[in-house]
Amino acid sequence: MEKIDKLVLNLPAMTSATEPTLQAPAATRILLLLGPPGCGKGTQAERLARHYAIPAISTGEMIRAEIRAGSELGKIAAGVTITGGLLSDDLVNQIVRSRLSQPDCRNGFMLDGYPRTVEQAKFLGTLMAEIGLPQPFVVHIDVPLDLLIARTCNRRFCPQCGAIYNLLSHPPRQTGACDTCHAELQQRSDDCEETVKNRLAAYERSTAPLIDFYQGGGYRRVDGTGDPDSVFAAILAALA
Ligand code: ZN
Repeated sequence: MEKIDKLVLNLPAMTSATEPTLQAPAATRILLLLGPPGCGKGTQAERLARHYAIPAISTGEMIRAEIRAGSELGKIAAGVTITGGLLSDDLVNQIVRSRLSQPDCRNGFMLDGYPRTVEQAKFLGTLMAEIGLPQPFVVHIDVPLDLLIARTCNRRFCPQCGAIYNLLSHPPRQTGACDTCHAELQQRSDDCEETVKNRLAAYERSTAPLIDFYQGGGYRRVDGTGDPDSVFAAILAALA
């Protein structure tokens, strides 16, 4: 909290109110979206990136970009990936540093898949202070287990044309049959409820330390039970 206050006080716009600044630091958004699989995070991330005109940055994409560019980091990452190893915190952090120092991140960005650990979160905090950006704001999209199950386990797909249905929100006109090719609709997994339960439990286990870390700073929980429009409105309200 103290760190954040200091950064706010050091913002250039506060020191010279009349001088037009290239960037509006007060509007700089460093966003981090958290939420269990099936909470609609992907959809909200896309909308937020468009709304604030900031890049959505994913760890996977960053690593692939370094490898494509043939940078030193990229060469090391390629070596680790080829042998099927996991990238160390240190290597991921360096790749993040390289990406977040690019000019398109000056007005903010949204992170996907990073930080995953408290160590990475601490690194990110230090890095933001170093390059003069505000601390990340964390939005947690809350969806209860029964709704995650309802959303996920009511999905049906057409094996012929690939159309996706949801028995609750987007049912086929004729029960069990595809609207376009009339093939019999199928479900991806028989033990869907069990799978969703396990996924949520694994997600909560791995995210708990990160939530503890951001608790008390810029951290908000948002109700993710509504339709995408109302969840988006709730996120904007939390960020206002
Ligand atoms: Zn079909």
